[in-house]
Amino acid sequence: STFQDLGLNDDLLQAITDLGFTKPSEVQEKAIPILLESETDLVALAQTGTGKTAAFGFPMLEKIDIDSRTTQGLILSPTRELCLQITNEMKQYGKYCKGLNVVAIYGGSSITDQAREVKRGAQIIVATPGRMKDMIKRRLVDISKIQYAVLDEADEMLNMGFYEDITDILSHTPVDKSTWLFSATMPKEVATIAKKFMDSPQEITV
Ligand code: AMP
Repeated sequence: STFQDLGLNDDLLQAITDLGFTKPSEVQEKAIPILLESETDLVALAQTGTGKTAAFGFPMLEKIDIDSRTTQGLILSPTRELCLQITNEMKQYGKYCKGLNVVAIYGGSSITDQAREVKRGAQIIVATPGRMKDMIKRRLVDISKIQYAVLDEADEMLNMGFYEDITDILSHTPVDKSTWLFSATMPKEVATIAKKFMDSPQEITV
């Protein structure tokens, strides 16, 4: 299939052409139609390097209201490096989505600067759990209206001891949002998170 077949809008298709992506990867082919067509929760077993960022990123960009400055999408990732990489990819994918603001929130960098960026209005926040929790506690960020939450590399986040932080963060989000969990492996802890925070998720494996 092609990206056009998957039902993506012209702004995204143009960015995809610019990036030189000729056809969807397997995880994209499986995840994108599911996420575009329904407001379902999703558990995706996929390794890094499979194109999973675009598998959740394209549908999120397609679904959010870019005319609104409300934070609608939250992507949690285990490390600063991954957080920055996802932010960069989301900005490239959304380069023709006029008014889009994607902000990265991660530890080891100025919280004031990050708060200032958030305040300008970020439809999408990409964050590491520790700093995100901190900013919620200090009321520097409002995720009470998010509609889409991505737990990326969920197995890694749990390995790194972020269970409590993730739980805390998700408790500040609406119950009726969609949650998309991506993980390379499915240990008991990830299954527990899926069970606790997700509602009859569809499942895909690549
Ligand atoms: P990820 O698994 O999301 O870290 O993606 C791995 C790399 O593949 C990134 O550099 C993406 O830009 C690239 N990529 C993602 N989707 C495609 C695609 N459909 N065709 C070619 N490259 C892709």
